[in-house]
Amino acid sequence: MDNDLLIVGHEKTSFIDYPEQICTMYFLGGCNFLCSYCHNAHVVYSKENAITKEEVFTFLKKRKKFIDAVCISGGEPTIYQGLYAFIVQIKEQGFLVKLDTNGTNPVMIERLINEKLIDYIAMDIKAPFSKYETITNTHGNMDHIKRSIEIIKNSNIEYEFRTTVCEELLNTEDILEIAKYLKGSKKYILQNFRDGETILGGQNVFHPYEFEVLEDIKKEIEDYFESFKIR
Ligand code: SF4
Repeated sequence: MDNDLLIVGHEKTSFIDYPEQICTMYFLGGCNFLCSYCHNAHVVYSKENAITKEEVFTFLKKRKKFIDAVCISGGEPTIYQGLYAFIVQIKEQGFLVKLDTNGTNPVMIERLINEKLIDYIAMDIKAPFSKYETITNTHGNMDHIKRSIEIIKNSNIEYEFRTTVCEELLNTEDILEIAKYLKGSKKYILQNFRDGETILGGQNVFHPYEFEVLEDIKKEIEDYFESFKIR
């Protein structure tokens, strides 16, 4: 990918995306996966830079008193080599930084963690490894995904692993298999699918799990983790 960044969206204030902090979110366009249930198809396919870095830093300077953290989401932010310099510049302004990632770039993740440039990382675990291709519609490198999981688990920063679930793509056994692999991690979240107009595979194609089914899964796996949530 291009050396620089494609910033395609900005949510000025969020109270829910960085635990216990007020954050502002930037969305980087483009992704190396094409998950059918993705709710950000417009971000994944976006090719237009909507916001310049100058605009980002002007905004951050103005809002410094009201914002604790900057969340960088996508798309997949780590496809850009320029992500590193962007985060360095954000840290220089004194903000906490959270990165949302699909875990495909362990080299970037390790560098950001080792250099204390990110304070929180949220990594999507798409499926059991044997099903990654089906969910992401791409030939993912499972060694990269496994390496990212290990780097994050062994780091000292706050983190969460999370899996989006819909009835059509992951069955109960799949979810239990992922949970077993992640056993011993700090935080695991099951995100129930929500339909909408910007779903990559189309609206009215996928369905969320019944709440009761997720509650039954919870009983089986919640003890694997320090913290487990359904959202
Ligand atoms: S859900 Fe999949 S396609 Fe969408 S941004 Fe995340 S990794 Fe990319």
